[in-house]
This record gives sequence, C-alpha cells and structure tokens, in this order.
Amino acid sequence: MARYIFITGGVVSSLGKGIASAALGALLQARGYRVRLRKLDPYLNVDPGTMSPTQHGEVFVTDDGAETDLDLGHYERFTGRSANKQDNITTGRIYQGIIAKERRGDYLGGTVQVIPHVTDAIKEFVLDGNEDYDFVLCEIGGTVGDIEALPFFEAIRQLGNDLPRGGAIYVHLTLMPYIPTAGELKTKPTQHSVRELRAIGIAPDILLVRADRPIPKEERRKLSLFCNVRETAVIQALDVATIYDVPIAYHHEGLDTEVLAAFGIDPAPKPQLHRWHQVVDAIRNPEGEVTIAIVGKYTGLKDAYKSLIEALQHGGIANRTRVRLDWIEAEVFEQEDPAPYLERVNGILVPGGFGERGSEGKIHAARFARERQVPYFGICFGMQMAVIEAARSLAGIDKASSTEFGATEEPIVGLMTEWLKGNELEKRAAEGDLGGTMRLGSYKASLKDGSRIAEIYGDTEIVERHRHRYEVNRAYRERLEAAGMSFAGMSPDGLLPETVELPDHPWFIGVQYHPELKSRPFEPHPLFTSFIEAAVKRSRLV
Ligand code: GLN
Repeated sequence: MARYIFITGGVVSSLGKGIASAALGALLQARGYRVRLRKLDPYLNVDPGTMSPTQHGEVFVTDDGAETDLDLGHYERFTGRSANKQDNITTGRIYQGIIAKERRGDYLGGTVQVIPHVTDAIKEFVLDGNEDYDFVLCEIGGTVGDIEALPFFEAIRQLGNDLPRGGAIYVHLTLMPYIPTAGELKTKPTQHSVRELRAIGIAPDILLVRADRPIPKEERRKLSLFCNVRETAVIQALDVATIYDVPIAYHHEGLDTEVLAAFGIDPAPKPQLHRWHQVVDAIRNPEGEVTIAIVGKYTGLKDAYKSLIEALQHGGIANRTRVRLDWIEAEVFEQEDPAPYLERVNGILVPGGFGERGSEGKIHAARFARERQVPYFGICFGMQMAVIEAARSLAGIDKASSTEFGATEEPIVGLMTEWLKGNELEKRAAEGDLGGTMRLGSYKASLKDGSRIAEIYGDTEIVERHRHRYEVNRAYRERLEAAGMSFAGMSPDGLLPETVELPDHPWFIGVQYHPELKSRPFEPHPLFTSFIEAAVKRSRLV
C-alpha cells in the first residue's frame, strides 16, 4: 500500500516547496521506490489555465491535456514520470464537483458543508489511483495560515488517522531569516508557523528549513525543542547554485534517511545518485557559453517561462555549454531597431504567448533572425509570428495577420473550431468559454522525410504537447512553400501545420507545440539540444 508524505509550507511563500517535493521524490526514486507527486492548490480557479502568466507563472500542460500548476513540471523533470490530470486539484475543481452533485440531488436533502463534504472530496482525490506507488507525495499550495487552504489542511489531518499507523508523515518547509544587526539566524518565524500547524491538529515529523547560511547546532536544538520535532529531523536546506543540486544537497543533510526513519523503514542501501552528479557536473563545468535572446512579453516574471528556461539549460547540458539568457520585451522592437539588441546573441527564441501586444516586435525579431542567419526557434506563438513574417516579407502578403488580433483580410493564422484528436472530432465555438477549450495535450505529428526537423528527432512520427487556440492556415501553404518556408510537420490528417522551417537558413524552426514541456535533465529535448548546438556554431562566427 502507498505511503503518504504531505508537504506544507510556512513563514513565507516562494520557498521552493515544489522543488523540495520534487527533490524528495527523486531521492526516494533513487532508492528504487515508485513515486508519485501531486499538488493540491487552494485557489478557486478550476485550473490555472485562465490565470495570467505574470501572476501565476507558466501553465504546465500534461499529456492528457490538463492545464496544471508549474510545480508539476518540476515533478516531471525530477522524476521522469509524466504527470496527468489527476495530479493537480484546486478548490475550484473540488467545489465544481460538489455543486454539480448538489444540483443533481445526490445529497438527498442533506446540508452540504465544508466538513465533511469538501474534506471528503479532497481525501477521495488524494487516495485515488495510487495502487502502483510506494510513496505518494502531496504538496499543499500556499502557506499555513491561509484561510483558503484550511479545508486541505483539515483533510490531510484526517488522513493521518484514516490511514493505517505509519501510513503518512508531514514535512513542513520553513524559513530561518538572517538578521544582520543581530548576526543571527532566527527560529521564531518557524516556531510560529509550527504552532499554527499544531493548532489545526498537524504535528510535523520533519522540518525542512531554508536558510542562506548553515544553521548552528544550538539553533537546531532550539527548533527541535520548541517545534517538537526530533533534532535529526530538523533538516537544513541551504541555497544551492542549481536546482539539480537539490536532491544531492538534501541527501547530504539526511532528508531521505529521516523520511524513511519516520515510516520505520531501514534506510539501507544508499540511493543511486550517479546521474544527478553527472548533470550537476555538466552544469558546473561547461566548456563554452552561448547567449540566447528570449523575445517575449512576460519577461518580468521568469516563472512564466519556467519549463522553457529549464529546457534551454538541458540543451546546454547536452552540449556542455552554459546558456545565458537575454530577456527582451518584444514591444521594444516596435520602437527601436532590433540590431543593437540582437547582433551579438547566438540564438533568438520567441516563446508562446497570447494577444496582440508585442506581436509586431516578435515579428521584427523573426525577421532579424531570418535575414541575419541567426538561429531562430519559434514556439507556438513564436512559430505563428515567424509564418506571418515570412508571408509578409517572402510571399508578398503585406496584410498577413492572425485572427487572434481581430478580423483580417489575410488570416495566415486563424481560429480553429474543429479538429481531430485521434479519431474523435473536437469542436469549439468562437465565442465559447476560455477555460479548458484550447487544443490541449498530446497530439501526433508527421514530419517530412529528409526535413531538418525529422533529422533532429531521428524520426518522422512524433508526439508533442499543445496549448493554443489558433493554427497556421494551410490555405497559404503553397504560397509560403514557393517563397521558401517549408511546412515540414503536419497533423496526421494533413490539415494542421505543426512545424515550419527555412531550408536555406542555418537553423530556423517553428513548432506549433511546446517541446519545452517534455524536456528533462536526463533526456534533453532534441530540438533544444540542436538549437543550442546551432548557437554554439554561431558563437564561433560572431
Ligand atoms: N495565442 C496563440 C494561440 O492561441 C499561441 C498560444 C501559445 O503560444 N501557447 O494559438
């Protein structure tokens, strides 16, 4: 039977609970256990799909088409296990189910309440589908003390009693701030946070304490005493240079040993961390460096591009190259010449995006890359803008645009209202709901034999994850191909352009899907490996 590890956070948000959970999962996996990671999010949105990337960060899309929290990306990258729809739940989705049941009359006249109905629904979710796992790690979003998270805390408290003895433990992630005037790391915020947890009936088994410097023994003893946690279970979590160092660092601090001890499991033999050491070594000791410009519109919040940043780093690992990122707000190119910004970079990447703002700037970036032979990688919106650019500059379609920006005479990119998923026809109304209605999740694509992209994948049949409402309009295919842009990848039914490339450019590829979502440190995505390789070549020229 699966054992449960509940991970909560205290003191402040942004302590890296997602990475801490993923790292613990990776350590247990490195000991041969089968691990599943899940995220419980207390907000009222049904999923993060409709939330602004500048507020909530990237929306991570799973193979089965769920729009989920970006922490699921960390889980996938750290454990290699593909997440699914059932690995992330929000208060909104829990309530959606309960209210639908209430309307159907399923509660038979009963009063529907947070306890037991909401907490039961949460518990049911947490316990469901775990037969194949040794450990299920459930991360609770938010910080202890948040009103909206209370039903989740109550549910995991109850689970502590519902499950057999030794079936669940609680790990609490906190912060010890350093106060320069006192020259000390302070324990009080952690004490308060644990007191808050204990007031709602949860006694943490393990404290994972973030600090910017080593925690003196005396302070650890103090935390152990005041928080009622064994001294060995106070684990210091110091800042590290790369997130891929976190599993190794936590292992050194004894986290995995302590977790197993809390379940009464013998911690021998040691975990196999060889591949983690290899990845960290490649990051720490690069043989060269390239600079990639990312021309986007959410550049103020790097979390909006979490998987992209990681995938570029994976491409760097594969080439033993440090990848420096140069973030550029696309709108800048609507006022200024891109040359001074882009002349010295070794590659240009236009990532996914929504809406008209910044689109002309991205088109300028694509033009610069095409004309100056700089490697160009267009992802989703970045492909759409590259096609519009080619239509205008190469095929002479001056008014080329996307219907995403309003009615247009030349809809090079247009809204799709019908498409095939396998054998099933998916339909959307133009004025329908925004939430959950994009082309989402894994779709197959067929790549033209002999194309650059087929060569990169080493295959002509691929499966990649999508998240978009608009598609390049195949009605323009012939004109664009005659002008030099090849539609190398198409959906299996031949209706939807999936990839484009410029055969007589050193590296110019656009993809309608999001390859960054499937890249992992141990298996860098071939497109990112190849793009960074092209950037390395370019760096030798400029
Ligand atoms: N806004 C575009 C669309 O919906 C691109 C989306 C994206 O880049 N993920 O088609």
